[in-house]
Amino acid sequence: MRGCEEVRELIPWYVEGNLATEEGADVATHIGACADCLHDVAAALRVRASVRAAFSALPLVSEEMWERVSRQALGRRLVQLDVGSFIVGFRLGAWLTRRGNPVRADLRLLGREVHLINRRKGGGSS
Ligand SMILES: [Zn+2]
Repeated sequence: MRGCEEVRELIPWYVEGNLATEEGADVATHIGACADCLHDVAAALRVRASVRAAFSALPLVSEEMWERVSRQALGRRLVQLDVGSFIVGFRLGAWLTRRGNPVRADLRLLGREVHLINRRKGGGSS
């Protein structure tokens, strides 16, 4: 059985349903026997629901507006976010990546710098 520390690292992926079957089963087994980790899963699910609600309330940006802003923003740091939840950063990064435009996103997450995305025009990323 996985330990608490290992399970906690997997919780963001677990609540998103992004773990391999065996890993997901390991997390489920662990939280069935560990109240602390179960509490963390519940908290992660609440954050996930809040983020989804917040994103669904955002107004849609037209493709033309997105293209114009993307061209002007190329290579500039537009925003600096301090995010206390990996899930928020993960969802934001996934949303930006899906746009297919050149995007660079670094995230300061729980006090650490995380290079989230470096997507250049044409779909290359590193
Ligand atoms: Zn635990």
